[in-house]
Order: sequence, then C-alpha cells, then structure tokens
Amino acid sequence: MDAITLGNERNVLHPRLTRYQLLLAATLGGVVAIAWLTHGAARWWWLTLLCTASGLCLGLGVSFPQWQLFGRSFCRAATPKKMVALTFDDGPDPQNTPALLDLLATRNIRATFFCIGQRVAGQTALVQRMAAEGHEIENHTFRHSPATNLFSVARLREELRLAQAEIQRASGRAPRFFRPPAGLTNPRVFRVIDELALKLAGYTARGLDRRADPPEKIAGRLLAKLQPGAIFLLHDGGVPGPRLLAATRLVLDQLQAAGYRCVRLDELEQEHETNL
Ligand SMILES: [Zn+2]
Repeated sequence: MDAITLGNERNVLHPRLTRYQLLLAATLGGVVAIAWLTHGAARWWWLTLLCTASGLCLGLGVSFPQWQLFGRSFCRAATPKKMVALTFDDGPDPQNTPALLDLLATRNIRATFFCIGQRVAGQTALVQRMAAEGHEIENHTFRHSPATNLFSVARLREELRLAQAEIQRASGRAPRFFRPPAGLTNPRVFRVIDELALKLAGYTARGLDRRADPPEKIAGRLLAKLQPGAIFLLHDGGVPGPRLLAATRLVLDQLQAAGYRCVRLDELEQEHETNL
C-alpha cells in the first residue's frame, strides 16, 4: 500500500512502529532508567507514576481512535474544501433507516452507513435501496457485541468476514472501511483489518445520540466541531426515529447555511489523498 494512503499502514511516528509500540518501548526505557537512577521508596513512587501514566495513555488510546495509538484511523480529511461526511451506525433499522433515506433523498445527499451484518441479513431489500440511492455501506461487525474489543484475532476475523460477506451479498459491493463498536480499537483489530484490506474509520465528532438529549443538543455536538473534512457520527439503529430525523435535519440545515457539502466517506478519503 502506498505510504500516503490512510488506514492500513501502521506508520504514525515511525515507518514501522505504531504509537502503541513506541509507548511500550518508552515505558520499558523508563523502567530501566528508574531502576538505574533511583533507590528505596523513590524507586517505587516513580515506577507507580510511570505505570499509571502508561496505563492511562493505553486506556484513552483504546477509546479514542483519533489518538491513532494502534494504527491509522480515518478521522478527518486533510482538505480546505467545505466537505463533511455524514455517517450512521448500527443499522439498518426497519423503521428509522427508510425514513432517514427519504429525508436524505429530499436533500439530494448521500451518506455512509456502518451496518451490522446480522441486521443486513434480514433486510436485503432495504440494503438494496440504500445502495441504489447512492449511499455507502460499510462494516460495523456482524453481531455488534459489546465485548468486541476483547475478542481474539480469530473471533474478530470471523465477525468482520461474516459482515463483509453479508453486506456484499445484499448490496453488491464489499465494504472498504471498518468502524468498531463504540470506536474501541486495539492491536488485534488492526491486524485483522490489515488482513482483510479494510481501513479503520473513526470520526471527528459524535452526536452521542444514544443519550436522552434533545435533537438540538445532539446536532450542536456535531456542529461545534464543524471543519473542512470532518466526519460526523450518528446512529440510525437503536435510537428513537423522530429524534434521529430532527437532529439530522438540524445538521443538514446548518451545513447548508455554512456552505458545506455532504459527501460519502470514500469521496472524503479520495479528497484526503489528493491533498497529501
Ligand atoms: Zn455501533
């Protein structure tokens, strides 16, 4: 893969090392330095401080794909153009998704849907409609287990492969991006997406629309981080439909007022690559 493309190549700070590997090396170096330079109680204080700081970095790195701790996450495109990708997770939903598709069609907007393979399996006609209307359908695991981040490589591989196959069967196109449940990553996730030639999709801003907040607050969270190349994350599955539509309408109105164009994630990635 070309060194400038996003997603699979591990380089963040060094051609072959991830930030995670650098963190481990720095921690090990710190332990050796502390053992060499300190004695008695001070040694244990420094060791505790170092291990706590490393553990904190690791925990935050798992939770925030923007940190790029284990590998590249596509969280925003490098572009001066007013372009934004709207992404919707956890669908397709038999009620919410058709209503959302209607709304997007009235505005002539194409979006990216990170679908759960198991839900795709029972809703082929809906997925075909999504694809026919020009939306992008990407991989969000097969079962969307809350324990996905704890899965072994073999189990992760099975989850992603099943979802790839189901989405390809229903939509006619194999996903190119993977977004993990809750955005949690680890080295195993990157190993499996490397094997399957997928790229990890993060986000610039989340609506946090699973919380019982009004649509204005959900839209406000996204719009507060509006910038060229931003990736917005909402859900079409597992949320109340009227609130989803109201929040999406608010976002679309504000994007239009600010002169932004909504594009699919693959279009945003192309724009990113032309600017590197
Ligand atoms: Zn999800």
